[in-house]
Amino acid sequence: MKIELDDLSLLDANKANEFIIVLQFAKMKFYNGVMTITNTNYTTRLMVNANLEVVKKFCQKLIGLGTKHSTTIDVIGWVVRYSPSEDFVSLTPYALIYQIKQTVEKSTYVTCGTVIDIDRDHAWWYKACRQCTQGLEALTDQFYCAKCDVYSTIFVARFCIQVRVVDESDTATFVLFENSASKFLGLTAADIRTSMLAKGYGRDHFPEQLNALVGKTLLFKLTRHDSLNKFQACVITVSRICSDPEIIASLALEKNIQLDALQKLTTATGVRSGELISNGSIV
Ligand SMILES: [Zn+2]
Repeated sequence: MKIELDDLSLLDANKANEFIIVLQFAKMKFYNGVMTITNTNYTTRLMVNANLEVVKKFCQKLIGLGTKHSTTIDVIGWVVRYSPSEDFVSLTPYALIYQIKQTVEKSTYVTCGTVIDIDRDHAWWYKACRQCTQGLEALTDQFYCAKCDVYSTIFVARFCIQVRVVDESDTATFVLFENSASKFLGLTAADIRTSMLAKGYGRDHFPEQLNALVGKTLLFKLTRHDSLNKFQACVITVSRICSDPEIIASLALEKNIQLDALQKLTTATGVRSGELISNGSIV
């Protein structure tokens, strides 16, 4: 939501970097995906960083639903969302898949690869907490969120799609969560699940919509985490996907990525680890 304030002294007076705004007695209308707010007979009040219970509660919710009982608002950081071009080409370091797998600590990279398969043995969605997106523990007649320490009978379906990605150096399994997957597919996990249930498909049915990922050469912004079990060397989670051909071409030019060759890699069998590394394509 974008709010324009004419009176900047209102913000200066607060001497704060972050602002929590409370609107009282306003008319809100949601139409065609756009929320409009209008004044109601000149009674609307706009309060910035007001010392109100509702503001304090909102702060606590933002910082982890009471895990840190701070009542000040200075703990809330900005979520900076860079443009795809900044994020994928200039700001995040690029690495080949084999380099990502060799990294020892948790780190974030951009890589370019072709999706060759989706792991159908692994569930493509999970039951998430409505408040924090954490996976829920199923109890006999309800669910439990360990992060929020809350019991509930309601869950939200969120994506956790495991895709097999190949580049010129190696292959790896990337986990796509709700934000990155739904932006690419144009559908949420809840949308797909609802349509599957409406068609009478069972839990084991694999939704065709996910195949839109297969065969695509994409940029992935990802984070390599240490694995929690001994069967897996690491877990690679994707926070953002870029399918913009101009941005892909721009990164390919800068990092000497052979896009033609990459687009032809549609099976893992064509890749032998290390085979193409001597071509000088390591950056
Ligand atoms: Zn939760």
